[in-house]
Amino acid sequence: MTSCIFCQIIEGAVPSAKIYEDEHVYAFMDIMPVTKGHVLLIPKKHVENIYDFTEEDAAQFFAAAPKIANVLKEHFRPAGMNLLQNNGGFAGQSVFHFHLHFIPRYDQTDGFQPGWKTKQEAFTPDVIAKLADVIREKLEN
Ligand code: 5GP
Ligand code: ZN
Repeated sequence: MTSCIFCQIIEGAVPSAKIYEDEHVYAFMDIMPVTKGHVLLIPKKHVENIYDFTEEDAAQFFAAAPKIANVLKEHFRPAGMNLLQNNGGFAGQSVFHFHLHFIPRYDQTDGFQPGWKTKQEAFTPDVIAKLADVIREKLEN
């Protein structure tokens, strides 16, 4: 049996509060929700993180995302919604089967704290433009 907890959930070996399933994806309630309606969307194919997706697998996976988001929006009427996805332990990934978090947002005290701080002093327009040059070149080659 696979040691991946999310593969076990897809197989039904581990119970989950499923909300949606199709040929390519499976969606269920996060067991430790940050806010009301916190959902995880996962690909049925075991993909560890964003780096491992083929373009086709990614297209099939992300095709399901608006449907999930819209149902949560219509049902829970949140003030907003954060989609979050961690890659690698350092970035906070704790389950190594790709998953997209849907976190409906209600107010300042709803428990979700994205909190990042810009380092604008270090990243001047010139530095940003140079970073763009390097990345663009890699993407073009
Ligand atoms: P990560 O930190 O990897 O981005 O998020 C992993 C998420 O998976 C966490 O929010 C955690 O609560 C959730 N999770 C971990 N194990 C299980 C499980 O067995 N069932 C469900 N429903 N969620 C899980
Ligand atoms: Zn897996």
